Amino acid sequence: MVQWIMECVTTVSYSILINGGLTNRFQARKGLRQGDPMSSYMFVLVMEYLSRTLKTFKDIPDFNFHPRCVKLNLTHICFADDLIMCCRADKISIQLMLDKFNHFSKVTGLIENLDKSSIYVAGVSQGFKDMISADYQFKIEALPFKYLGVPLSSRKLTIQQFYIKKQDFNTMSTPSQACWLVRKVFDIRDWYLSIDSFANINNYCRKGQFNIQKAYTLARPQFQKVHWKALILGSTIPRHNFILWLALHHRITTVDRLEAWGIQVASGCVLCSSEKIETMAHLFFECQYSRNIWSTLLNWLGERHQIGLWEEEVVWLTKRAKNGRPRNSILEFLFAAVVYHTWTERNMRRFQGRKTETKSRIRDIVLQLHIKGQQKTK
Ligand SMILES: [Zn+2]
Repeated sequence: MVQWIMECVTTVSYSILINGGLTNRFQARKGLRQGDPMSSYMFVLVMEYLSRTLKTFKDIPDFNFHPRCVKLNLTHICFADDLIMCCRADKISIQLMLDKFNHFSKVTGLIENLDKSSIYVAGVSQGFKDMISADYQFKIEALPFKYLGVPLSSRKLTIQQFYIKKQDFNTMSTPSQACWLVRKVFDIRDWYLSIDSFANINNYCRKGQFNIQKAYTLARPQFQKVHWKALILGSTIPRHNFILWLALHHRITTVDRLEAWGIQVASGCVLCSSEKIETMAHLFFECQYSRNIWSTLLNWLGERHQIGLWEEEVVWLTKRAKNGRPRNSILEFLFAAVVYHTWTERNMRRFQGRKTETKSRIRDIVLQLHIKGQQKTK
């Protein structure tokens, strides 16, 4: 077998094409003819030698495996001529590893290309890195690097590392193999550039650094502010706030709205015994039920206020809310609670046929207010 191989390796001759004419054949000093199907087998045999040499590390007590490779006794990964060797970052281990490799080079004549070799050290001091780069001829580089075309990194790659690299983000084309989200990030460049003010990146900087909040605020379409803004921004219970927000938009599904959509339900108000059609205006605060809760709570606070229609109440409260006194925050909280509890009671009666007494609703609201107050003082 060895003889056969040596026969193949030593009898190679070449001829070169110069100016259209072939030169005389000459002997090669080593190697196979280019494209010889035997070359891959030869390579595997030779690399197997390296592999076995490196496997002896587990018998050398001075050698330390890379912390993540101890379990597997892993020292190297090799694919064709691409070789990764790894060990713990200490002087002895690195030296042992290089000794083995140099021995392999001497035996086989396969020498590393220093221009294409790098060393990657992590989790060590700068001083140690400096020592490594002084002692060995390898370049010290940082992760991520590419192995078999795939970037390797100890953590998740950023868009910058994976797609942009050294290109200019403003002018490069959208990477077609990227996922939808990343492509959208790229696509949005044009949209940003279409806004005049974005031509200058400084508009989006704070203290010299790009600020995502500023970019977002400036890029958002500017709408007119609603007059009841202060009511929604008060500190209420989130689910109360949501129903209040729907009500402020006149979007809660009262009977009149359902009818407009062609849905037929019993039209009378389920909260009071009147035959009035259930509308926003009736629920807040024409209806005896909600009016009762709201006025009880206002009396409890000692507020002298004549309860009016929905819009009037919103205007009155907004005025109060703009003044940040604690009493006004309490009013805001109670108002959101009244709207929420009225709406919940309506749903309970309509869909489940259950009733809660007004008294216990009021008790719940006051309790919730106390809990909220305690949270705030903490
Ligand atoms: Zn009613």
